[in-house]
Amino acid sequence: MPEVPEVEALREFLDGHLVGKEIVRVLPLTVNALKTYDPPLAALEGATVTEVGRYGKYLDIVADAPAGALHLAIHLARAGWLRWKDSFPAEPPRPGRGPLALRTVLAGGDGFDLTEAGTAKRLAVHLVRDPAEVPGIARLGPDPLAASFDRAALAALLAGERRQIKGALRDQRLIAGIGNAYSDEILHAARMSPFKPVRNLTEDEITTLYEALRDTLREAVERSRGVAAGRLKAEKKSGLRVHGRTGEACPVCGDTVREVSFSDSSLQYCPTCQTGGRPLADRRMSRLLK
Ligand SMILES: [Zn+2]
Repeated sequence: MPEVPEVEALREFLDGHLVGKEIVRVLPLTVNALKTYDPPLAALEGATVTEVGRYGKYLDIVADAPAGALHLAIHLARAGWLRWKDSFPAEPPRPGRGPLALRTVLAGGDGFDLTEAGTAKRLAVHLVRDPAEVPGIARLGPDPLAASFDRAALAALLAGERRQIKGALRDQRLIAGIGNAYSDEILHAARMSPFKPVRNLTEDEITTLYEALRDTLREAVERSRGVAAGRLKAEKKSGLRVHGRTGEACPVCGDTVREVSFSDSSLQYCPTCQTGGRPLADRRMSRLLK
């Protein structure tokens, strides 16, 4: 799933490719992707893109339509992606076939496709007059890349928090845009167990966590910046130190990266760096070892 660094890189890419361009057609190609019906997608025809913003993991394409500004808010979910096209075939694709979810064509003949692999269709597109009309945007916590997101801001968010740190970092209502991959990376950089209760963090540990969070996300944004949209996924994977690397050597200490699996996801960590050398309990691993 693209998280803050990849979505920010996509935002910069689209900002350079879309602003000032006129939209001629927006085609929904699956029934589930479009979550709104008023205004209709046809309201974007003839509109000029003025800005591309980001809210957490949402892209926000702002276009100046005759009836006022419209926001095309896109959430790529776990398996969604955006593919830039210099041209499109004359025949529109048949809806409901393959990974295509939405096509946006510009006056110059170029544009982009939204695609989603797999069968769990979660990619979501909203066309609204105000981004706050999108429920997932309205409940977002602060953006970790914002200048105002300082150590004090993080400490204030964590005050009174009852959860374990991994779950808290992934909660979009607490902090916008961090998911399963970058929460693993941040906790590895901070040398903290994913299961550490937030309320046990000392003042020094909050500082360590804050610095790990900012450095991890900023480095990922720097790596992603300027990478073509089609190569961002590979770029993300190559930059991760523990996430998705079960069984590989930790690049910091050489210990074997381990995982804890859940019904629909898994987390990765380094025992030496993060849990005092002790592996965390994992139901699936213990079942395999019986
Ligand atoms: Zn390590």
